[in-house]
Amino acid sequence: MRSPDSYWLATGPDWSRRGAALPERADVCVLGAGVMGSTLAYWLTRSGARPLVIDRNAAPAMGSSGRNAGRLIQGGHAQHALAIDAHGHDEALAIYRATLTNRDLVREVTAREGIEAALFPTAKLDLAVEEDEALELKRTAEALRADNIAAEWLDLPGARAVFGTDLPDTVLGALHRPDQDAVHSVGYVRGIAEAAARGGAEFACGVTATSVEPAAGGGWLVVTDAGRVLADQVVVALNVWTPRLLPELAPVITPVRGQLVQTAPVPFRIPQWGLDRGLLYGGQTPDGSLLVGGLRTTVPGRDEGIEVPDGSNTPGFAPDLAERLAEALPSVLPAATGVPVVRAWSGVMAFTPDRCPLVGAWPGAEGLWVMAAFNGHGMPYSQVMPEQLAERIRGGRGAGIPVGFDPARFL
Ligand SMILES: Cc1cc2nc3c(=O)[nH]c(=O)nc-3n(C[C@H](O)[C@H](O)[C@H](O)COP(=O)(O)OP(=O)(O)OC[C@H]3O[C@@H](n4cnc5c(N)ncnc54)[C@H](O)[C@@H]3O)c2cc1C
Repeated sequence: MRSPDSYWLATGPDWSRRGAALPERADVCVLGAGVMGSTLAYWLTRSGARPLVIDRNAAPAMGSSGRNAGRLIQGGHAQHALAIDAHGHDEALAIYRATLTNRDLVREVTAREGIEAALFPTAKLDLAVEEDEALELKRTAEALRADNIAAEWLDLPGARAVFGTDLPDTVLGALHRPDQDAVHSVGYVRGIAEAAARGGAEFACGVTATSVEPAAGGGWLVVTDAGRVLADQVVVALNVWTPRLLPELAPVITPVRGQLVQTAPVPFRIPQWGLDRGLLYGGQTPDGSLLVGGLRTTVPGRDEGIEVPDGSNTPGFAPDLAERLAEALPSVLPAATGVPVVRAWSGVMAFTPDRCPLVGAWPGAEGLWVMAAFNGHGMPYSQVMPEQLAERIRGGRGAGIPVGFDPARFL
């Protein structure tokens, strides 16, 4: 069942740009060409900058951004009612609103840059099987509506109607949020990277950064296996690999393995779904294949804190987890019974103790920035955080970055 590539990497566009020799100087050097680094480069070029992007892989999107489920689920990591309990209403709403701005930016950018084919609209159903989760989801539907965000609690017949195919009787109901998006992850990221390159960004792929140090005369020296670059500003967007360059973040970032299995295409379409507080989740690819992931916490110590071998894009693959995911699918989606699993792959996510990402300036180090650790939830921030960080790099306020994302909270 294990496959070397994800569905997205196997079916996405190639990256045909040949990297030039590493320049000696750059105004802004972005480390990492995942969705975050590539999109930051795009927004920097929109304001006339010509950033240098460095990635150790041969092409953008070969890290987690090309291995995910492609879902742009609005809101932060927690359901809105719980986010209000944890962060207070204003901060919870700022986080949710950032992802709504993101939705609009994703639609705008994909249309402007001719990559609409990588974007497909969907909805999200959070299915509850326990009474306490049903109460949380009902509370969330009310809290979202109070903030003028479309959401409703549906009982089982209502959930079945939106799902479009059967759901088991154990489901009590669902939180329904319409107007969500999904992307072809590799088509989306490489499309934006191409647009950044057209705008003047340079992509040095196949180059590994080994350190970032303050330069003697000001600015930052980026040391790589292909030479050194002196940059006025450096952005570290290295996901779970960020602590290799910024070791102070090692205690803050926990690598967590994620795995997905993919079925053969089915003749029906379903919305994105999550079950049991996202313990199990799924979506669908543009060709109709079903994706199912999750079950991470079911075996303590198996997936959290996992080692990622040097130079690798993913931790080792867990065959037992893939089997359990494949077995679990028909229990949520009876219509998937007997549909063969054709592919399975792993990737890695970077979790923080408060489940909020790290986006902003490195305290006390002018010109050094970090944008990492999206807690398995980077896509709903994939335009808005890079766009806002680009604004800060240009000297603006970048006020759309929630205060709770400031890396200084851990440093
Ligand atoms: C199985 C799975 C499912 C997921 N599903 C979803 C989902 O449905 N929705 C969602 O929002 N999120 C999902 N995620 C999380 C999402 O993929 C991440 O939040 C997002 O991709 C992070 O983007 P990034 O640019 O920070 O990281 P990456 O895409 O990992 O980019 C980091 C880049 O840094 C490069 N790099 C590392 N070290 C160096 C170095 N020393 N020098 C140069 N380059 C280096 C890597 O090559 C890589 O390209 C999922 C993740 C996994 C693993």
